[in-house]
Amino acid sequence: MNLLEIKNLNINFNLEDGIFPAVHDVSLIIKKGTTHALVGESGCGKSITAMSILQLLPKTASITRGQIFFNNHDLLTANTEEIQKIRGSKIALIPQDPLTSLNPLYTIGDQLVEIIELHQKSEKNQAKDKAIEALNMVKIPAPERCFNSYPHELSGGMKQRAIIAMALACNAELIIADEPTTALDVTIQVQIMNLLDDIKKRYGTAILLISHDLALVSQYSDYISVMYAGRIVEKAQAKDFFLTTNHPYSTALIRALPSNKFKKLASIKGQPPTLKQKINGCKFHPRCSYCMPQVCSNEIPELKEIGFNHFSACHLN
Ligand code: SF4
Repeated sequence: MNLLEIKNLNINFNLEDGIFPAVHDVSLIIKKGTTHALVGESGCGKSITAMSILQLLPKTASITRGQIFFNNHDLLTANTEEIQKIRGSKIALIPQDPLTSLNPLYTIGDQLVEIIELHQKSEKNQAKDKAIEALNMVKIPAPERCFNSYPHELSGGMKQRAIIAMALACNAELIIADEPTTALDVTIQVQIMNLLDDIKKRYGTAILLISHDLALVSQYSDYISVMYAGRIVEKAQAKDFFLTTNHPYSTALIRALPSNKFKKLASIKGQPPTLKQKINGCKFHPRCSYCMPQVCSNEIPELKEIGFNHFSACHLN
């Protein structure tokens, strides 16, 4: 069953020197109890797509076309009160830097209790029990001590667990995890990803996983969408994506994986385009080893279904 559906989303940045498209015709579906990874290099439009779900775009950005349905309600037409009810209670955000979500002046317990009281209409005592239960669920050792701690007293991994506990305490149906492990060391990264995976399996929570790290998402995703220069260039079920990778950009990302140990590690030549850079035709053509100059530098490839539920935007298809 579809929990979230983004349809033909376009986002522009309105800057002093012009209007620049950041997201073009992005469509994706997240089903209940699944993880959908949105992957690409930084600046490709994945985070801005995710922020649009909760109407958290910066002032310079605007949605010019598209719809975003959550449980069949269009979030883009929701008023401020409606969207505030959804934020934190139905859809929770786990940011790259946990300090952007935690208030340094309040204990973890105060912040958890406030969220639970707000979204679940619980009494103070009940809210405290629920908060400690949530800290237990995210496997924080000594949850009572964590409850009374301030954010600066916790490690990066523990802060991220506390934020995940907030999502759990509100029974969020969708967690948007925006590069949730980038600021953490490798061992803690695995622990946090395992925790999110466990939550998905145990509670049927859906996860939109934003990442530049294909190696990381490969083990935890049910569906993968690859973005390049504001467009989805390939999307498929994770197993099909890795078995029958189609788009030259996706192939290049896979070749760049360190786990690609039997082959020479290959970096992708060149840089992704900046927001203000205008590229005709396929946006990937200046970096593509398969580029057919006549067609690729003039015509934008359509996203076509090339296999069951597997789409790719390349003139080679
Ligand atoms: Fe490469 Fe052309 Fe395909 Fe773009 S359309 S990915 S340039 S082959």
